Amino acid sequence: MTATHITNARVFDGRQLLDATTLTMEGQAVTAVGALDAPRDAEIVDARGGCLLPGLIDSHVHTSVDSLREALRFGVTTELEMQGYWTPEQRTDVENDDTIADVRSALIAMMAKDGHPSELMGDLGEHDPAAGEHKGWQMPSVSTPDEARAHVQAFAQAGADYIKVMIEEGTVMGHAGLPVIDSTTIKAGVDEAHRLGLKVIAHAITLAATRQALDVGVDGLAHLFIDQRADDSIIGALRDADVFITPCLAVSSSLMGRDAAHLADDPRVAGRLSQPWLDTLRGTFNSYPQGTFQHVLDSVAALHAAGVDILAGTDASVPVPSHGGVAHGASVHHELTLLVRAGLSPQAALAAATSVPARRFDLSDRGRIAPGLRADLLLVDGNPLDAISHTLDISAIWRRGVRQS
Ligand SMILES: [Zn+2]
Repeated sequence: MTATHITNARVFDGRQLLDATTLTMEGQAVTAVGALDAPRDAEIVDARGGCLLPGLIDSHVHTSVDSLREALRFGVTTELEMQGYWTPEQRTDVENDDTIADVRSALIAMMAKDGHPSELMGDLGEHDPAAGEHKGWQMPSVSTPDEARAHVQAFAQAGADYIKVMIEEGTVMGHAGLPVIDSTTIKAGVDEAHRLGLKVIAHAITLAATRQALDVGVDGLAHLFIDQRADDSIIGALRDADVFITPCLAVSSSLMGRDAAHLADDPRVAGRLSQPWLDTLRGTFNSYPQGTFQHVLDSVAALHAAGVDILAGTDASVPVPSHGGVAHGASVHHELTLLVRAGLSPQAALAAATSVPARRFDLSDRGRIAPGLRADLLLVDGNPLDAISHTLDISAIWRRGVRQS
């Protein structure tokens, strides 16, 4: 079994900087942190000046094998999909392929007939999931409590790691008046998921939808509402319900018409992305230009200060500029800078992309650096705890102990 021994590194374990300066990995796992001696025949990596991080976790994507490959190129070793589809066989292939990021998935969300995200599908061309209808399945919808329970049972059976529900009446998507599922129906699905031991994560981007998500008892929010600044009432309600939030700041900014061209122009990004993705970073949704992005940043700061768990997520999906502003992998680094801009410390931002999602999604084998855990690692030059932008100064990436070239 090949071993790797990293020396002279700062080691951020997902929560804090350790005193240790070495890490040893053998096979798929970290075997020691702080050991003075390398195993015999180990490859030695001198990380002087650098910082070792747990592989990053993107807590909101819609992905594919190609996108999992793009994610891993940026040190994102796990993507948490909030709507998508994989067969169990495909899931096994992903799990065993150390050239791509690992994935967890909600599979197909509970959604209303002709509700979100159907309004987006016309833009997608070859990426339209309705193309899946030709592969033998259709986009389902639910409109009664029985259908909600049946949906949850079916997708739990199909291998969903958690359940996603869409609560979107369209205002911030530029399609006000979209049909939504009534609360009684959603609640039946949430209760069924909980009975089966699955968490429920809601898509909600307005305060009203967030209130509805809280009323039906979801465990997490895949977005933060962007139509209002958080007030004490909603902050207290979210904290008391112990709901986690993946604010998806980069895509919120895109909804308000701001692109991520600076990311596409960054040589550390440009060299790792294909042209369609660079074009996508230069695009925007621009469906809610009247929004005030500073309000969203203020909300994140207030929620974090109140003790609400904040997770880093991008909502990256397919390379279509009209759904732009985000790309797999690269945008996790953008999200980290935005979380710091909102007021999180670099340490808290890094935790939002490592240990916090691992804890909230019960990923006990990753998201932290400790003996026995997966050797999913990102080595960067410089100290991102001083300046978060160093996370893009990527020096090496390991997925289950396999170094990426
Ligand atoms: Zn999404």
